[in-house]
Amino acid sequence: LWIYLQDKFKQSLSKVSYDTWIQSANLVRVTDNSVTVEVPSTLHKEYWQNNLTTRMVEYLYEYFGREISPLFVTSEEQANHEENKEPQKSESFDHISMVSSTLNSKYSFDTFVIGKGNQMAHAAALVVAEEPGTIYNPLFFYGGVGLGKTHLMHAIGHQYLQINPNAKIKYVSSENFANDFINSIQNRTQEKFRQQYRNVDLLLVDDIQFFADKEGTQEEFFHTFNALYDDRKQIVLTSDRLPNEIPKLQERLVSRFAWGLSVDITPPDLETRIAILRKKANAEGLEIPNDTLSYIAGQIDSNIRELEGALVRVQAYSAIQRNDITTSLAADALKSMVKKDKNLDVSIATIQQVVSKYYQITLADLKGKKRVRQIVLPRQIAMYLSREMTNNSLPKIGKEFGGKDHTTVIHAYEKIEKALTKDDDLKHELEQIKKSLQ
Ligand code: ADP
Ligand code: MG
Repeated sequence: LWIYLQDKFKQSLSKVSYDTWIQSANLVRVTDNSVTVEVPSTLHKEYWQNNLTTRMVEYLYEYFGREISPLFVTSEEQANHEENKEPQKSESFDHISMVSSTLNSKYSFDTFVIGKGNQMAHAAALVVAEEPGTIYNPLFFYGGVGLGKTHLMHAIGHQYLQINPNAKIKYVSSENFANDFINSIQNRTQEKFRQQYRNVDLLLVDDIQFFADKEGTQEEFFHTFNALYDDRKQIVLTSDRLPNEIPKLQERLVSRFAWGLSVDITPPDLETRIAILRKKANAEGLEIPNDTLSYIAGQIDSNIRELEGALVRVQAYSAIQRNDITTSLAADALKSMVKKDKNLDVSIATIQQVVSKYYQITLADLKGKKRVRQIVLPRQIAMYLSREMTNNSLPKIGKEFGGKDHTTVIHAYEKIEKALTKDDDLKHELEQIKKSLQ
């Protein structure tokens, strides 16, 4: 991760800046929702906080596909922190470590804006919060990144608690469930693990697509599910796709997940995006003219998390410039976020077809594993365009290319992006391909 970030900063900062601020820093901790950077002095810390935070948030978002907060500590603070900490098992940096899960107070029904893409999901969530365990069990939300699945899940939890203040609720990501399970085996605390998960009134398990390939965890979850279901306890699940599209998800889980109700959440239309921005702006006490809100909502159409990111950026920009928020200020602030080529209604499949035809290779080769240059380059170009021109997530793009890992897609993207700065022929080819796509 640190190498990835360093690379990003290298590309965007002058050499002097890079040497001063980035070289001297170090990654010391990664958790579920934050990343801690250690810097040599308070001066460095202030500089990072004031000048590098926005970029950092952006890069972390690219890397993790979700919002992660950067934290900064001086070496001195870090040393004190280490001293006070009880000896613990070491945290691995590549792996997002386990964090005990609680409900986020910001994710309530009150703060949720209802629109076309999510009204079904919202309605189902309300029903489940008010009559848990009876009608829709399990309730299953699926849809792309940043569309409000986690938000709705927490909202159910809050609402449920309001009605039954003593209820036991457990929110967990599927990864944390898997970690808890594995730890319980290692530490011989399986009984405790089961207590923890089966003794609840409402179990919320987020992003179950990460159960793919985890046989033992699936087995355990199967039993957890059955125990809760038999007790008429409510279960809510989310995923980025339907259960039967999750690779290597056991058939018996797939069929159980279909017992209740599955609802998809689709990207918000313009009107909903404006409403969401307005709500967030009000909550932050920001004064933003209506046409500026429409402008921002018109630029960012992929998902709500990015929409929020755009607002944060505009806000920061106006603070730095000491200027009111206007449309032209917003346009400046969002320059780097706006993808001109997006919104073309192009699918990955179309891109693959056009690219393979253009380079006269077969579709099978384009999606395959052959490593010869005549094939690798078109493949990377097709991946690049899929990222550039569609709103598909990196894992999804990887999947469409014969099940490749998302890091392969990142690699392809960066390779082409870099090549484009030097290679005019390539640039020309890409332009032509884009033309035929339109
Ligand atoms: P997902 O879990 O689907 O990836 P999240 O629930 O994390 O998405 O939502 C991403 C961000 O967008 C969160 O900050 C959330 O509060 C916000 N958000 C999503 N949907 C809505 C909505 N309908 N109204 C207001 N905010 C929303
Ligand atoms: Mg989520």
